[in-house]
Amino acid sequence: MIKDINWGELGFAYYRTDWNLRSYFRDGQWGELVATNEETIPVHMGAPCLHYGQQSFEGLKAFRGKDGKIRLFRTEENARRMQRSADYLKMAAPSIELFVEACERVVKMNADYVPTYESGASLYLRPLLIGVNAQVGVKPATEYLFVVFAMPVGPYFKEGFRPISVMIDRDHDRAAPFGTGHVKVGGNYAASLLSSVETHDAGYSNVLYLDPATKTNIDECAAANFYGIKGNSYVTPDSHSVLPSITNKSLCDIAEYLGLKVERRQIPVAELAEFSETGACGTAAVISPIGMIYDPSTDTKYNYGTEAGEWSKKLYNTLRGIQYGEIADPFGWTKVIE
Ligand SMILES: *Cc1c(COP(=O)(O)O)cnc(C)c1O
Repeated sequence: MIKDINWGELGFAYYRTDWNLRSYFRDGQWGELVATNEETIPVHMGAPCLHYGQQSFEGLKAFRGKDGKIRLFRTEENARRMQRSADYLKMAAPSIELFVEACERVVKMNADYVPTYESGASLYLRPLLIGVNAQVGVKPATEYLFVVFAMPVGPYFKEGFRPISVMIDRDHDRAAPFGTGHVKVGGNYAASLLSSVETHDAGYSNVLYLDPATKTNIDECAAANFYGIKGNSYVTPDSHSVLPSITNKSLCDIAEYLGLKVERRQIPVAELAEFSETGACGTAAVISPIGMIYDPSTDTKYNYGTEAGEWSKKLYNTLRGIQYGEIADPFGWTKVIE
């Protein structure tokens, strides 16, 4: 029985579900996935995840479709990305099979928490990888814990597909030029909190970071990639310090499928004036259309209108339609969880 929850009222916040799955890496190998309803994890106070940031996480969603079936979206891509993050931080990585199995089982075990199709909400999955052994010394951990938990999250656009305002931040970087920007690790988020709070206090929804080496090109928002529409092109930054978003990768394929040209290249700040539409993209919202970008260094406002642009709407509707099983999935991105 699907739970009787007011799905539409949920935001993006922890919500207890029945089961999470865990596996430990010890003595050089991953153990069995164990299901538990325990919400806390035992971590030694000398664990590298607590002191030196040896941790990585992922985020993906399961959707209850129009046909009642539950679908997961591109889980293998998240598995591969966690492997890249783990490699870069010298952590043991779960195999693709282990990662995918954990995600699929956690959805099945918590199927009653997958929101109704009508609600527009979804089940968010949070895979987490941390170095856990007693250590204190600065070197890679020898033992790791891989956890996957899930929680229902509300529809992102409660008041419709409304454009947001973002602000360029030249005073802080979320990552170094050849640092950890390209991998999904908590340290990047810790580094973005100050500018995120300051930006919100200034009345903007999100920060737009520039490339940390030259501060001349667009990188991305704190937790979402950036794209712009210019003529018949979907343009998105090519930068070592940008996290490769699976949503963005999917939107690039959809853009081509819909007849746009895709350009992955540097985007100088001044080119913002030449886009007809811009947006931020990621699992949370798929697309947040950007209505205005403010650059305080030149006191310039780049305006894209108070309504989402045509291409942003088409891209959003297509990706969301695939995820909710409303339209055929020509790419084979979704997997029905029986
Ligand atoms: C997770 C994340 C994104 C979005 O990636 P998706 O795979 O689309 O959810 C974008 N930028 C950063 C910095 C991220 O951590």
